[in-house]
Amino acid sequence: TTFADLGLESRILSTLTSEGYTTPTAVQGQAIPALVEGKDLLGVAQTGTGKTAAFCLPLLNRLAAERARLTPTAAQALVLAPTRELAIQIEEACRTYSRGLGLRTAVAVGGVPKGKQRRALSGGVDVLIATPGRLMDLLREGSVRLDQVSKLILDEADRMLDMGFVDEVRQVARMTASPRQSMMFSATMPKAVERLANELLSDPARVEV
Ligand code: AMP
Repeated sequence: TTFADLGLESRILSTLTSEGYTTPTAVQGQAIPALVEGKDLLGVAQTGTGKTAAFCLPLLNRLAAERARLTPTAAQALVLAPTRELAIQIEEACRTYSRGLGLRTAVAVGGVPKGKQRRALSGGVDVLIATPGRLMDLLREGSVRLDQVSKLILDEADRMLDMGFVDEVRQVARMTASPRQSMMFSATMPKAVERLANELLSDPARVEV
């Protein structure tokens, strides 16, 4: 399989070539076609497997196609990650993959002043990557809205639950749009993660690498 076989558009394919990605990884080969089709996804995959591109590429592909007909100002995709480091890493990857697509990405994480994040959000953003704590904080003060979010991604779900964020994740999910395409990735699949997957995902494709 090649990335072209997976249904991604030409601008994304040229970015992948220039990044030196020649072949999809196992998780990408399985997840991307299902996501391009619009299915929900439950992925059991560790960091290092290429899972970030597995969810970012189809997401950006769809947003770029929709971009031709509307210019939204509120986030249409939300990625929740347990830690600041992971969120920043996802945002950097997402920014690289979206080069030339005219999409805006932003990151909202704790431990840094909120001013810059507020300004980025008020200027309009397509893809928001956030940690649950800072996102709740920005929601409470009204600096972010999630009602246009039709793509929700939970990365490292097991860690997010270990860190005690289950209520925040549920609250955030309730604020997103309907219908919504949802994806969940986890390195392990304990009962609590299965339960959350049952709550948030609808008839998901299952990918295990
Ligand atoms: P991740 O598992 O998402 O953290 O990705 C691990 C690393 O693999 C990152 O540095 C990516 O840039 C890289 N990567 C992801 N997909 C591919 C691919 N298909 N070919 C080459 N490198 C890749």
